[in-house]
Amino acid sequence: MPALLSEKLIEILNTAKKLLLAHPLCDYCLGRQFSSLCYGAGNDEKGRALKLILTMWSFIWHKESGEIPEILIRLASTGFKPAIKTLQALTEEIPEQSSCYICGGALTKRKIGEIVKSVAEELREYEFRNFLVGTRVPADVREREDELRAVFSIDTGEDIKEDITRTIGAMLQRRFKVPVEYQNPDIVILADIFSETYELQVNPLFIKGFYRKLQKNMPQTPWYCRYCWGRGCEKCNYTGREYPESVSELIGEPALKVFEALSYKFHGAGREDVDAMVTGTGRPFILELKHPRKRFVDLSILEKAVNECARGKVEISSLEYSSRRELRILKNLSPIASKTYEAVVEFDGDVDEEALRRVEERFKDVVINQRTPRRVLRRRADKVRQKKVYYVEAKKLGGNIVKFRIKAQGGLYVKELIDGDEGRTEPHIAEVLGRRSLKIDLSVVEVEYPETKG
Ligand SMILES: [Zn+2]
Ligand SMILES: [Zn+2]
Repeated sequence: MPALLSEKLIEILNTAKKLLLAHPLCDYCLGRQFSSLCYGAGNDEKGRALKLILTMWSFIWHKESGEIPEILIRLASTGFKPAIKTLQALTEEIPEQSSCYICGGALTKRKIGEIVKSVAEELREYEFRNFLVGTRVPADVREREDELRAVFSIDTGEDIKEDITRTIGAMLQRRFKVPVEYQNPDIVILADIFSETYELQVNPLFIKGFYRKLQKNMPQTPWYCRYCWGRGCEKCNYTGREYPESVSELIGEPALKVFEALSYKFHGAGREDVDAMVTGTGRPFILELKHPRKRFVDLSILEKAVNECARGKVEISSLEYSSRRELRILKNLSPIASKTYEAVVEFDGDVDEEALRRVEERFKDVVINQRTPRRVLRRRADKVRQKKVYYVEAKKLGGNIVKFRIKAQGGLYVKELIDGDEGRTEPHIAEVLGRRSLKIDLSVVEVEYPETKG
């Protein structure tokens, strides 16, 4: 066993020696070829250790033979100080320094330190719970390293990208005392040490809550002038707008200030008509704030800021921090959040216009108590659901035939809203009309997805 172990040791040193005789390599790039041979040391340390042993070996060689081995000169040419000092001590000429064959001299403690310092300075302006470091490695650097590994049969190396990101990540972790997060980091630092530049990618922040719209004639998201599409014209008094304000702006703009964000996107769970108010508990929404500097704000501050700015127009409540995952859920659920139907109904007698107006009046923003319809009882539990009807529009097609346009919350059984299902749905349309329905032709005409424009 001991003989085998020494053979392995000699093999490692021989490979390091052959590599350095073939190409000048910096500490990082030499150490990286042997990266998997120990834990808890940087590749630069590993490279230095190998260079140091080869320098000592050179010293012994010189003592025994009186010759200066080539490897000592090559070591000195990589800028390795102990090799230079040893050559000086032996009163030998110091060779000219050449840059690292693989990285071209990009990987140095000083350069890495400088980029980390700039990144850290900028990061000080942000609140974040975790981060991730990414990097870009030029293709020719990779090619040279791959080729070298093939030629020298190296199977103990680490990927250069991992080397760089791990090194920078560890330094930032020490400074900020926050962990590296791979799945969902608050901030991604793209550090390119080859061009000595970096970029911060600050991931968005999500806040969920409910809004109530306390006034009519206001859209959920900006509604541009239909004549000029936002450019501004005589018709819109050069505002470019059909309506001066929107729910999304009344919530988003104060949030931008509170979170020092660059922009926002408003996502509502469905959407009401411009002339409809939102009352009760309100409509769920998720606000996506892009590039926020603040992440740890007490949400009651945002609630207060919005509710003061938008007093009498919009009110928000029940704010909580949310996530991209919840936004996906909100988007997936919103098809069932509201639907618009068209129903052509034949009644058992003539209906007059006045009765139809009564229906429209009665079914404006009203909550329906609906017990599970008899026709689905076999598949669904028997219980009472409360579903909202946003509006019913009625148009007479013939003496006893009426076309309805109904917008309602997902999950409402619309046929039963019309015929009442023997009193299991209250209130219902036939009852208000004072007629019985004979035939109902129903179709969904619109499924509303949430607005994604901010
Ligand atoms: Zn290098
Ligand atoms: Zn206009």
